[in-house]
Amino acid sequence: MTIVIAIDGPSGSGKSTVARAVAAELGLPVLDTGAMYRAVTLAALDAGATLDDATTCATIARASEISVEDGVTMLDGRDVSREIRGPLVTGAVSIVSAHREVREILVARQRAWVARHGGGVVEGRDIGTVVFPDATVKVFLVASEDERARRRHRDEIAAARAVAVEEVKAALDRRDAFDAGRVVSPMRAADDAIVIDTTNLDVDSVVTEVVARARSSEAR
Ligand code: C5P
Repeated sequence: MTIVIAIDGPSGSGKSTVARAVAAELGLPVLDTGAMYRAVTLAALDAGATLDDATTCATIARASEISVEDGVTMLDGRDVSREIRGPLVTGAVSIVSAHREVREILVARQRAWVARHGGGVVEGRDIGTVVFPDATVKVFLVASEDERARRRHRDEIAAARAVAVEEVKAALDRRDAFDAGRVVSPMRAADDAIVIDTTNLDVDSVVTEVVARARSSEAR
């Protein structure tokens, strides 16, 4: 049986931390689909493309060789792991990822990645609803706005990017509203997803719950 664990939710909800821990516990590889959208956005910015132009962005997506493995993102042979987390890409990624044509290309690559790896933990915004509607376990993580902004701010400081927490919060609100409000594959919990509020939960208890669900589905 191919095990696919779908982990969706807004920025700062704890997706990456939970995905990595669940993957380690179950011995599965993990795919960060946000890094793929970020890499295409970087390629579009580098090319000086008009980000609103779906056809151009799709052409760039198709021509870009992207690999996301073990926390390292490569774009056309270049390690862009740090660059894709910078303010330029973060401010532009929601525009590029709203294009249906771009999503079709990346969704196909995400499915191929899972097929190639024989399963995996996949994190994003539309994994349980669109990419893997038959996933073994679907999780949608949420957390209060303040807590999510605090987490993202901590990430920015850790990456030596000086920015005020209010600024992080405003950018996060904008991006979430765009991701949830877009016409194509809006961010939302699948009807059969377990919704977990991580505001006051430690990572271990979330991981224990997801792993238990995965093991019981596997045993069935
Ligand atoms: O997860 P991360 O914050 O790195 O995602 C960056 C952006 O990529 C999101 O704000 C969203 O616009 C887009 N995204 C998406 N679908 C996914 C994963 C990410 O549209 N499955």
